[in-house]
Amino acid sequence: MTRSSRPKGTQDFVPPESIKKTRIEMLFRELATVYGYQEVVTPTFEHTEVFIKSSGSASDIVQKEMYTFTDRAGRNLTLKPEGTPGVVRAVLENNLRLPCRLFYISPCFRYSRPQKGRYREFYQLGVEAIGESSPLVDAETIIFGATFFTRLGITEFTIKVNSIGCRHCRPAYREKLLTFLREKQKKLCPDCQTRMEINPMRTFDCKNTSCQLLLNDAPLPKRHLCPECTAHFEEVIDSLKSTPFNWKLDEHLVRGLDYYNRTTFEYVSGVLGAQSSLGGGGRYDYLFEEFGGPVTPAIGLAIGLERTILALPEGSPFNTASRRNLVFIVWTGPAEMAAARELLNILRQENIPALMTYEPVRVKRQFHLADIAGARFCIIVGEEELKGNLYALKDLITGEQSIVPAEKIVPTFSSLRLSSERI
Ligand SMILES: [Zn+2]
Ligand SMILES: [Zn+2]
Repeated sequence: MTRSSRPKGTQDFVPPESIKKTRIEMLFRELATVYGYQEVVTPTFEHTEVFIKSSGSASDIVQKEMYTFTDRAGRNLTLKPEGTPGVVRAVLENNLRLPCRLFYISPCFRYSRPQKGRYREFYQLGVEAIGESSPLVDAETIIFGATFFTRLGITEFTIKVNSIGCRHCRPAYREKLLTFLREKQKKLCPDCQTRMEINPMRTFDCKNTSCQLLLNDAPLPKRHLCPECTAHFEEVIDSLKSTPFNWKLDEHLVRGLDYYNRTTFEYVSGVLGAQSSLGGGGRYDYLFEEFGGPVTPAIGLAIGLERTILALPEGSPFNTASRRNLVFIVWTGPAEMAAARELLNILRQENIPALMTYEPVRVKRQFHLADIAGARFCIIVGEEELKGNLYALKDLITGEQSIVPAEKIVPTFSSLRLSSERI
């Protein structure tokens, strides 16, 4: 039998690396909960129209990157290329009361060229604040992402922010940009020539250097805002000024989706090379209407898990894949094994992660098994210890050894106790 390999552009998260993923997701859950968000889980695939309606038919996602298929009954379905459209659909379909704050952790799928930190199946961590229009929510969303990175130990990042206007100021700006682009049409890449007629702002996203050079002289959205958009954006900026985070205005930042309006933002990190974006987001005040819903202001962000892992600095506690908080119980003979099993049960009942082997192997081999398991601690149950109602304890990271009375063993490990009841 030949072994199978994973499809191009996918990756396996295996231990101990998978611990990083778990920890990052747990932090995200925690922080989102602290900010008043609740989890939403939508299907991995949706009717294709959900994404065409939202991302825009001119977007690279819809044009080139979707995994679209027909099911056995002839339905046209697509694996989600991003999180937001499914959330909007779900909010309307389930008649959720507004305002509501939702977060998700979800795999997404895009058929793009695999590169460092860019996969065809990737994970997005996202939040959506739905039904809130205040610029203070925009600032709060931007700060949420920045706080998340900071708690992970990632400090080398900059927040780029911009405003791209609303349905009142954008039409006049769009015409102005279109006139500019039409004059340069022949010099633009074929993609931009198509894009400009559907959504001229999309040309700002072009990776082509010659297009970028031409666009240096283009009229910019931020300079064509109506008074309401200007005031809204000023308040966002004012809020950012009082934070410790690095941020800058980037007037070319429009982001690759048709549904954004007003505030757009992105977190970029120099440590990532060409794939510099850790995530980003923006306001999407008109998307609910595209889905047949009522006027509903909203703003969200999405963070790329894989790039976040790449950006973790050496010293970050989220970057240690060495040992996990697991107690491995080592025993010396059949009588001690029975006592070890009792202790195993006690620890597990207290929600303290614990493991032992049932194989009759020597102590040395058991320490080796603790190593394979990646355990942080060993408890040794030996004849002497049983007699004295004591346990020998070894920290496998520091090498430190100690003797702990039996009744102190649970309190000793209480910091390892897991809890799922507090959300
Ligand atoms: Zn406006
Ligand atoms: Zn171009």
